[in-house]
Amino acid sequence: MYTENHCTVSIVYSDHLQISMLMRKLNIISAICCMLLFTQCTNAQNKQTMTDHTNNPHYSRTDTAHLKVSDAEWKKILPADVYNVARNKGTEYAFTGKYYKTDTKGMYYCAVCGNPLFKSDAKFASSCGWPSFFEALGPGSVRYEDDNTHGMRRTEVLCGRCDSHLGHIFDDGPPPTNQRFCMNSVVLEFEPDKK
Ligand code: FE
Repeated sequence: MYTENHCTVSIVYSDHLQISMLMRKLNIISAICCMLLFTQCTNAQNKQTMTDHTNNPHYSRTDTAHLKVSDAEWKKILPADVYNVARNKGTEYAFTGKYYKTDTKGMYYCAVCGNPLFKSDAKFASSCGWPSFFEALGPGSVRYEDDNTHGMRRTEVLCGRCDSHLGHIFDDGPPPTNQRFCMNSVVLEFEPDKK
């Protein structure tokens, strides 16, 4: 009787031990899965905000020298969607760009050449569907050209360093400038302030 009980206790103890070890293994596997998922999410977020410029020898956030690069070279260097807006003066669809709702503090750079263009402090919530600013970073950040295409009289905004098309400027913005720099997200690159 004692032997039978002893065996039963041993079997039950052995089962408990195995279940305990299995649970421990499952916990370790879960922890590894969570870490992998977190790493992938972080990488995905970085990819969303950071663009790879290794193929672009003209990209610099500090060099202010004006660029003279042929259209053929830009076409080779730039992603197709950036090229279409920056060099072909295209316009992204309203409410589709990655920055039209962004209100994080930081700096907006030219996605083509790295020229600093706008501070987030100058960004305002506009109902137009494109990222909108009431002023550029400085007088040399952007330049302007008359644009009489599509049956309209508008003022085009171009990057002061690389002459890429960024968008247009209108006189219906908020104080203090009452101007609205209506920009295409795809030609901007946002860098959040470091905490
Ligand atoms: Fe530029």
